Amino acid sequence: MKRTIERVFRGAPEHWVGNGFRVSNYFPAATDFDKRMSPFFLLDYHRPKAYAPTTERRGVGTHPHRGFETVTIAYQGAVAHHDSAGNGGVILPGEVQWMTAGGGILHNEYHEQGFARAGGVMQMMQIWVNLPRRHKLAAPKYQALTNSSIAETALPGKQGVVRVISGAFEETKGPASTFTPAHMLDVRLKPGAQVRLPAPKDYNTALLILQGQVKANDSPAVSEGDCVLFKNDGDEVRVDAVTDAIILFLSGEPIEEPLVHYGPFVMNNIDEINQAIEDFNAGKFGHLPD
Ligand code: MN
Repeated sequence: MKRTIERVFRGAPEHWVGNGFRVSNYFPAATDFDKRMSPFFLLDYHRPKAYAPTTERRGVGTHPHRGFETVTIAYQGAVAHHDSAGNGGVILPGEVQWMTAGGGILHNEYHEQGFARAGGVMQMMQIWVNLPRRHKLAAPKYQALTNSSIAETALPGKQGVVRVISGAFEETKGPASTFTPAHMLDVRLKPGAQVRLPAPKDYNTALLILQGQVKANDSPAVSEGDCVLFKNDGDEVRVDAVTDAIILFLSGEPIEEPLVHYGPFVMNNIDEINQAIEDFNAGKFGHLPD
């Protein structure tokens, strides 16, 4: 059964993250819902934006996280990343970095040096995926999901592709290992294409349009920048592309636990937030130069 649309909304006015990422927040800040997208806690979208060549470092310096995972998807440009667990790398267009902050990590995120020197268009997304209580203090880890590792299903009649980052689409499973079940799909459609995306009944489900125009479950057309949140009243989302379109589809099993957010920490209660601040100040998140 097809889900009905709960609401269509747009991101908050853009703001800078550090000096390198100009993003629009879709949730939680731009919305009045708190856990409506759980297990996804936050979504920041960096629309295509041209940067002039520079020798300056653009991005966000070393900062901590605890209690969740950060998922960074590059669409255009190149993002370099280092963390206190000793991981690092460059996220190129089409690639995804899935970082588990768990019990505590320090990391930094910059425009990759060669990209910064040449200048060019950056387009990327960062999603925070909450962790359930029993995994909040999991050991930090990092999954580099390269283009060759991301499972891709071609739609019949050359109508487009569904790239599976996590979860599954039809028989195709995504490479990311997750702590709670979640479908994260990068969907690229040709005009007239139709695709049925999996939205198990209780999973919180939304799609964000990055490019073009689509109809979702017979809605009026929605376009670039629109986010469509679905009611939890069916098990399928049908998308019809009006034009060439790129959408990000999220559907995940909610984490039914209390949640307290403070800056870079997402925990279950205020005592755990205070503990995170104390541990960070005591240097327990490790060490990482800027
Ligand atoms: Mn970060």
